[in-house]
Formats: sequence, C-alpha cells, structure tokens
Amino acid sequence: LNRRLAEFGTTIFAEMSALATRTGAINLGQGFPDTDGPEEIREAAVRALRDGRGNQYPPGPGVPELRTAIAAHQQRRYGLDHDPDTGVLVTAGATEAIAATLLALVEPGDEVIALEPYYDSYAACVAMAGGTRVPVTLRPHEGAFRLDLDELRAAVTDRTRLLLINTPHNPTGTVLGRAELTAIAELAVERDLLVVTDEVYEHLVFDDAEHLPLAGFPGMRERTVTIGSAGKTFSFTGWKVGWVTAAPALVSAVRSAKQFLTYVASGPFQYAVAEALALPDSFFAGFRADMLAKRDLLAAGLADAGFAVFRPAGTYFVTTDIRPLGESDGFAFCRALPERAGVVAVPNAVFYDHREEGAPFVRFAFCKRTSVLQEAVERLKAVR
Ligand code: PMP
Ligand code: GLN
Repeated sequence: LNRRLAEFGTTIFAEMSALATRTGAINLGQGFPDTDGPEEIREAAVRALRDGRGNQYPPGPGVPELRTAIAAHQQRRYGLDHDPDTGVLVTAGATEAIAATLLALVEPGDEVIALEPYYDSYAACVAMAGGTRVPVTLRPHEGAFRLDLDELRAAVTDRTRLLLINTPHNPTGTVLGRAELTAIAELAVERDLLVVTDEVYEHLVFDDAEHLPLAGFPGMRERTVTIGSAGKTFSFTGWKVGWVTAAPALVSAVRSAKQFLTYVASGPFQYAVAEALALPDSFFAGFRADMLAKRDLLAAGLADAGFAVFRPAGTYFVTTDIRPLGESDGFAFCRALPERAGVVAVPNAVFYDHREEGAPFVRFAFCKRTSVLQEAVERLKAVR
C-alpha cells in the first residue's frame, strides 16, 4: 500500500458491519436502510433489466433519461438550472462523485478544507489526489455541532484550492443555515475558491430545518460542484447511483477523472432512478415523516439509556456523547457495545484528524425498522 493510503486502513463501516455479523448485534453502525425503497422503483429496475436497457455500457455521462430527471429535480426543488447534457454527470454513487471531483480539481500540494468530523472517504480521496486536508472542527454548542465561521476564514491560505462542505452533515446531523451558507459563499468568492458540496441527505431534514443548496447562493453557480445520491434518497444504497451537478467546465473536469475510474456503472438502475426522481412530493414528504418518527424513537431511547443526545436536524444519524455514562473513549465503547448491549455503533473519532476532539462521541443510525429500533432501545438500557 502506498504512503498516501497507508494511514487509512479498513473503513470503519466495513469493520463495524463485520462486528455486527460476527456478534449478531443490531447494526446501527453503517448507514443503510433495512427496508428497500419503493416497490414501483424496484419494478422499474426489473423492467429495465428485462427490456435490455442499460445491460450494456450506457453513455459515459449517464443515460439521458437520468440526466434529464436530475436536472428537472434541481430545477423543481431549488430553481437551479442545469443543462442535462453539459451540467449533469451520473456517477457510481456519491462515493465516486467525491473521488472523481477531488482527483479532477486538486493539484498535489493544494489544501482542501473539510468540516471535521468528515465522512471518511473525503480524507482518503484528498490524499489520493495528493492534496493536504485542513480540518475545520464543528463543536458542540447548545445541543448541536456548529461551524465557527471565524475558524473557517482563518483556515484559508494561499494554497487553499477548495472547500469541501457537507450539509445535512454526516455524522453530526447539523444542517447549515442561510447565514452560514451565505458566509461560506462570500468567503469562496472573496478568496476565489472552488466549493464541493455533498448534499446526499438533502431530503432528510427535520422540524424547521430547510436544506438550502450552496449552488443557489450569489457567486456560487460557477464555482460549486454539488453531489447527490439515489442511495440515501430512495433507500437503494446497493445500486450505487450518484451524480454531480455543476457548471459545464467543472462537470467536464470531473468527467475526465470519472471516465478512468469506472467509466460507467449501474446501467439498468439508472433508468429506475430516473423514475424515482420524478416521484411526487408526497413520496419525499412521507419518507421524511417516517425518518422523523424513527429519529424521535431512537433519540428518546438513547437519552433514557443515559447518553447525551445531539438531536439531528438532518441525515439519519444521531450523534451522542458517552461521558454522562462515565465513559470517554468512543472506540473502546463501540468495541465493547455488542457484548454489553447487543448493538453496534460507530465511534465518531474516526471522522476526525483531531482524534481527541471526537473521542467521546458515538454515532447511531436510525434508518431501521421501528421494531428493530425498539429492540435496540430496550437493549441499550444495559449500558447504564
Ligand atoms: N457522502 C456522505 C456524507 C455519505 O454519508 C455517504 C454514504 N452514506 C456518501 C457520500 C456515499 O454515498 P453513495 O452510497 O451514494 O456512494
Ligand atoms: N455513508 C454510510 C455511513 O455513513 C456508509 C457508506 C459506506 O459504507 N461507505 O454510514
């Protein structure tokens, strides 16, 4: 393994899912739903397979039906116009979108600012691109993890190439608000930075939180790469259909890298996701309501069990603080949790460069059936 990747080891998600399988514990670690998405969309995939659509290499940028549907979704929800031919690129999940974007836009030695804790593939992809990651830490304040805008500004240097933003934010559940996004946009314009914004949880915002795409802020259209994913929005994480929307020059750059990573993926699934994106608003509202009820169930159960709970404004993760339980090492806690309570969770420390900052935080996923969450909550009482 080369020096760029040596520090990363096995992704925490594989490690924790293997731990769940080995111990038979309830897996609230890796974020994937235990119920598939809409039956009609599954049927759409079957139809595509049977009709021979996408069984051979589809066009490199994605099938036209899907690119059109992605552009229509961005227009309908956010008023953002993208030409389906030049402003949209289909990728093998958001994971490939992140990799291709960073490989395309980062020069060796460039600094990439990311919000810490960050989704684990960001660090590895910045490293593969030869960049240097510069974490800006979200810190707990009044029940949520907040971005300190002064710290963000101070992190920008002459070597900063891009800001890597994620909202709604995994693992903290923070949803960046209008004021924060305005400040990020102003900073990007002032320092002439590119912005890559991972918005895979765009449809999972709760209470009065609203997802605002960074690309919609003044001066951002020409400098923003927006990343989305069907895995999160339609509960088909195994299909690996993601996408990039951006100005043509940026899409073209990302496509240059993407063509040598997978070239294309997920042929028949692309047709099914095109249909999914055209589902009525009631589908998205129903999905959100369903996840909101699950959030409340798990958050209340974790609080009862003695955790300090950061109630997420978005995503399907709850971050907790284990210090009220008399614990301080999330890694040790998560390794022992299957034995202690028959549940698997993820230590947030893996998402930090400043490991000590993340040490007492542990993430639980709530994209699971109600009965499973109820059983998990029951079991978690054992940690007291
Ligand atoms: N970004 C974030 C913030 C994620 O949480 C995930 C995975 N859930 C991804 C990207 C990867 O998405 P995909 O499964 O579409 O590759
Ligand atoms: N994004 C999911 C999570 O945060 C996992 C995706 C993966 O396994 N790479 O749990």
